Amino acid sequence: MITSRGYAAQSAKTQLAPWSFERRELGPHDILIEVLYCGVCHTDWHLINNDWYEGIFPMVPGHEITGRVIQVGSLVQKFKAGDHTGVGVMVDSCGNCVNCTHHQEQFCQVSPVQTYGSVGKDGLVTYGGYANNVVVNEQFAHHIAPTLDLAAAAPLLCAGITTYSPLKKWNVGRGHKLAVIGLGGLGHMAVKFGLAFGAEVTVLSTSASKEKDAAALGAHHFVVTTDDEQRKAVSSSFDFILDTVSAKHDLNGYLAMLKTDGVLICVGIPSEPFELSPFALPAGNKTVTGSGAGGLQETQEMLDFCAAHNIVSSIELIDIKDIHPAFERMLKGDVRYRFVIDMSTL
Ligand code: NAP
Repeated sequence: MITSRGYAAQSAKTQLAPWSFERRELGPHDILIEVLYCGVCHTDWHLINNDWYEGIFPMVPGHEITGRVIQVGSLVQKFKAGDHTGVGVMVDSCGNCVNCTHHQEQFCQVSPVQTYGSVGKDGLVTYGGYANNVVVNEQFAHHIAPTLDLAAAAPLLCAGITTYSPLKKWNVGRGHKLAVIGLGGLGHMAVKFGLAFGAEVTVLSTSASKEKDAAALGAHHFVVTTDDEQRKAVSSSFDFILDTVSAKHDLNGYLAMLKTDGVLICVGIPSEPFELSPFALPAGNKTVTGSGAGGLQETQEMLDFCAAHNIVSSIELIDIKDIHPAFERMLKGDVRYRFVIDMSTL
């Protein structure tokens, strides 16, 4: 077994603290990664608090992992020691079901294995990237171009692919008006990708203080959604809205901002159900849809796109001991725009 050190919650809703544990020995197709950086996704908070379902504890969160390959199994072909690599939200799948064979391994119907809080095919609980190392089948690790900063690239593995994938699927680009709800980890990546694809981008935010930052990111417009006048001014305006909000909110008001035939894509996952007015969709032929992370092939495509267009996340690098103050700031919407843990502080 491989010895690991990390930060774990020993039970739901408890503080993360240092913890030593073991990972599986390298199999022929596995690589051992020295974790250098790990992004702090709002999902980490949802999961250590059992917001969505009962988790498996102890839990080592973290699914925005970047680092360096330090050892490879005997049959590994994709990587060699020293390569820059990244791991996202999943570390295994069956490879044979309809979703796996259509490059949507994140929805594997037979044996999906999340990066943490899951049970792998080896029967062992998976532990995430708030740790010094990780062992993963090479197919579930991605190449990161040496030109990309590994700290700022870490959030691409979840926030990046989760926003890139739906914008690509709906061909959002030139001639489209895109609004992004919530300027946080996912939201700021949606702004960057929306702009890279040529859309006219509006940020819909509850935080007036983020207006300057949105402009610095390149967003064309900024709407403070707590201001009724500003909301009214964007009624029936957008072709697409990407909703990244992590907490309960009213979709009906946002649907009124869509043009006829407009599409609202939910990627945020609050812990409470949405309520829809019966008129919200028929009045204007509106569509509400969702999107979950992205498959292996598309994740590599997104990382290559980022390398080609010099896109990374805007980050605040933190010491792992400051993970709880970082969570507290994230919960207040005060994140600019992704906390990333510097794993050398472990
Ligand atoms: P985050 O960094 O905390 O950003 C969320 C943003 O939502 C906040 O910064 C805030 O932006 C806005 N917001 C928060 N509470 C709000 C409220 N009550 N009403 C309106 N806006 C509010 O979180 P994140 O890491 O981007 O994650 C966002 C959500 O996506 C989480 O639920 C996470 O679990 C989920 N997620 C889903 C997937 C997927 O596969 N679909 C993948 C990763 C994460 P403003 O200050 O600008 O209003």
